[in-house]
Amino acid sequence: MRKILLLITFCFISFPAILLAQTETKQCTLFDEIELLKHVKSLSSQAFEGRRTGTKGAVKARKYIINQFHALQVKPLGKSFEEPFFFVKKKNYEGVNVLGLVEGTKFPKKYIVISAHYDHEGIKNGKIYHGADDNASGLSALFAFAEYFKKNPPQHSVILAAFDSEELGLQGSKYFVKNTKIPYEDLLINLNMDMISRSDKNELYVAGTSENKKLKYLMSNFNYSCNIKLLTGHDGYDGLDNWTYASDHANFHKQGIPFLYFGVEDHKDYHEPSDTFENIHPEFYLEAVKTIIEVFKKVDQSNL
Ligand SMILES: [Zn+2]
Repeated sequence: MRKILLLITFCFISFPAILLAQTETKQCTLFDEIELLKHVKSLSSQAFEGRRTGTKGAVKARKYIINQFHALQVKPLGKSFEEPFFFVKKKNYEGVNVLGLVEGTKFPKKYIVISAHYDHEGIKNGKIYHGADDNASGLSALFAFAEYFKKNPPQHSVILAAFDSEELGLQGSKYFVKNTKIPYEDLLINLNMDMISRSDKNELYVAGTSENKKLKYLMSNFNYSCNIKLLTGHDGYDGLDNWTYASDHANFHKQGIPFLYFGVEDHKDYHEPSDTFENIHPEFYLEAVKTIIEVFKKVDQSNL
């Protein structure tokens, strides 16, 4: 009898503790924070020469992305990870998107596209435009997502899209949206990340809710407590700059596909050679990526 009582007491006392421990471990292991910062540092280093479309810096970035996708067990969306495309902008360019797939457990034929552009401005007047915030930050977050999915497979299939040629007029996303074989009604939403690693005011914006009732409702009920402010706006209804067409999500929006775009206000190093790893805010960045993963969870569990 005493033994049973002891056992019952043990269960009652230790069960919440175990639960708490599990939640804590889960929170801690969303992704490897040190690795995430290392990715931003590497991709914005001199070796990548500003990752301009068609340069060897871009080729190097692509290899880096594919290596990470392999290591994180992300499958190619098509026959290979690479989706080449051509366009003319003063001269001929060849861009290459890198597209990975994580299959959904419940709705494998319905897709959430998580995107970030990997190209930047390259070298101009002998100066490297490092593009740490723009957009090594968003790109590296794709790897954090891939890592997260290894332990927490999504219900819907997820396309991890590293788009090329954003800086040359959103060309990579334009090609992808126009040429995908997936019916548009099965592309449920685009979550786009472009510049998410620094904010003097500790503010991350999410645009795309103003014209979409479901997303508006979803975000108004979002209360993940973390150390940054997630603000809705910048989508044409609040007197702030309208970011609806500011990055790759624009091409999804033009086809009527809902989007959530995550980004920060422009800063003094925006499109300057000084957009370097040293100038990002690591604590803000890590919180931003965790917050976006929490938003993803809500989207994945919702009825889009
Ligand atoms: Zn950008």
